[in-house]
Amino acid sequence: MTATAAAIDRLLPQTQCRECGYDGCLPYAQAVATGEAYNLCAPGGATVVRDLATLLGKPLVAPAKTQAKALARIDETACIGCTACIRACPVDAIMGAGKLMHTVIADECTGCGLCVAPCPVDCIHMQPVADTVLPRARRFSLSADSRFAAAEHARARYLKRNERKQREADERKAMLAERE
Ligand code: SF4
Ligand code: SF4
Ligand code: SF4
Repeated sequence: MTATAAAIDRLLPQTQCRECGYDGCLPYAQAVATGEAYNLCAPGGATVVRDLATLLGKPLVAPAKTQAKALARIDETACIGCTACIRACPVDAIMGAGKLMHTVIADECTGCGLCVAPCPVDCIHMQPVADTVLPRARRFSLSADSRFAAAEHARARYLKRNERKQREADERKAMLAERE
């Protein structure tokens, strides 16, 4: 059975964490669609491999790696307000402004961990949580399957964040062009 990358993408957790070695969920879905990859989504673990096996008619295999659910936590007393974590977060789950303390919006954090490495003062830590579904904002979704609802929610925030970043880049470009 063949499946489109879009159908495969719908089965992925949408954290955009790049743990699979691809530049986000859609690029990974495209690799799965061509048969190049199959069991590399760490946050999805055995659940996503099972969903993909069903969709693609492939045999079940063990996930190459798994990832425990965790939320980012910022030690606010150590934060220097550099904004590096905000720029790294794919779903805009960090609040703060230049030279001000930053905070993780726990309901929106997907646990991707992408904010940890860029922090110059190592004040972001991943705290394991018992939640089965992240982001928490959709945990109590009316949807029959809160896992898919959470992934869809994360994807919507990712796309919105990308639009914002593109708009900001366009505005900067226009401003520079005006100055020339
Ligand atoms: S959630 Fe899975 S598919 Fe998406 S970027 Fe992370 S590892 Fe890759
Ligand atoms: S705040 Fe959460 S969602 Fe955002 S980059 Fe950090 S771990 Fe990922
Ligand atoms: S990267 Fe670290 S120091 Fe910079 S704003 Fe985020 S939490 Fe604060």
